[in-house]
Amino acid sequence: MAYDNNNVFARILRGELPCVRLYENADTLAFLDIMPQSVGHTLVLPKAPAEFITDMSDASLAATILSTRKLANAVQQATGAEGLLISQFNGAVAGQTVPHVHFHIIPRYPDVPLRA
Ligand code: 5GP
Repeated sequence: MAYDNNNVFARILRGELPCVRLYENADTLAFLDIMPQSVGHTLVLPKAPAEFITDMSDASLAATILSTRKLANAVQQATGAEGLLISQFNGAVAGQTVPHVHFHIIPRYPDVPLRA
């Protein structure tokens, strides 16, 4: 399917919609999830347009994974989380709701369930 240039993350990347920006480099952007499943829930995405992980170039995927690791360290330090759930969904049937590739970093705390 063709990439939808007007999806919400494409609009955030173009600066048309606001976000709480945590990190940015030439290839990636990270910001807080608007409906966090736990405190510090962070999204990391490539700037290059791609709906699914299988659409990404090797370089874009490598940059996004490296940014995800960097943010994972920073988020864990900032939140004091005991662990991190890192996930990435491809296709509505798999739970993807925004058609621009993104990695979730979801801090986990003892005895605190994820918000729905
Ligand atoms: P998915 O289900 O596609 O893997 O996750 C999409 C995520 O994007 C959801 O966790 C949702 O809360 C988040 N989200 C959707 N729209 C916005 C938005 O406008 N701003 C931000 N910061 N997050 C969004």
